[in-house]
Amino acid sequence: MIVDNVQIRSLTAKSASHSIDSNVVKTILENAEFRWSALTNGIQICNRLPPGRPGLERHVARVLEWVDQPSLAGLKRIELVDQLPSGEMRVSPRYRAQIASGMGLRGWYADPTMTSEPAYIVLYIPHILSALPRWLWWTSAATILIARTLAHEVAHHIVRSSGVKMSSEAEEESAANNYALDMRTRIRRLIKYRLGEWLIREVADDHWLWGLTCWKDGEHERAVRHFLQALRLVPDHQDANHWYWWATHEIEEKKYWTCAI
Ligand SMILES: [Zn+2]
Repeated sequence: MIVDNVQIRSLTAKSASHSIDSNVVKTILENAEFRWSALTNGIQICNRLPPGRPGLERHVARVLEWVDQPSLAGLKRIELVDQLPSGEMRVSPRYRAQIASGMGLRGWYADPTMTSEPAYIVLYIPHILSALPRWLWWTSAATILIARTLAHEVAHHIVRSSGVKMSSEAEEESAANNYALDMRTRIRRLIKYRLGEWLIREVADDHWLWGLTCWKDGEHERAVRHFLQALRLVPDHQDANHWYWWATHEIEEKKYWTCAI
């Protein structure tokens, strides 16, 4: 439910580098109880999460500071949600492939040529932040996790709005991944984001170790969930990756033989 609608119209970006004025971010921080915020470039951040999770807007605003502002032209809003899309979205091959990968859908870009409204981005917060303890949702670790998905979706907007034709969907995905990787490299210049990455790695290791403990205790489904959480935090976590696929295979084998007997 939307609690309020705050338009912060009076603020103007004045940075020569086109970054969002730090006053805007400050204002969003001060107005964290509001569910809607509008940035000076016209983008609205809409927090549709249940009450008790305000303030995530500030992560979005901080990530957008690292985007060249003219490339955001035409992007109307960024929504934070805890409900997966329904209807047409569910039958798209990309959506189903992402769900099948086990990693889940973290965000999507609504192309205005496919909808009747202006371009917008949706961030599915449960798959982005649920592996992180709630007390870390206020840190740069959460900003980094949101940045990974948001930068990827912003890249889709840049590609589609620029009119550049990609040869395939895979090429566009690759370009979006590269853009997100480039942003990661740039934001790591600040020590607070390097600290955030360190926190993410520590929590991922904890999930992997909890998973091992659960597996030894016979709590196999729970173990798989912990391995998956580790991968959501650190997609190239080799131990978690190995154990996730091995454990998933073992569980499926057991189910098969149980049914066959
Ligand atoms: Zn994509």
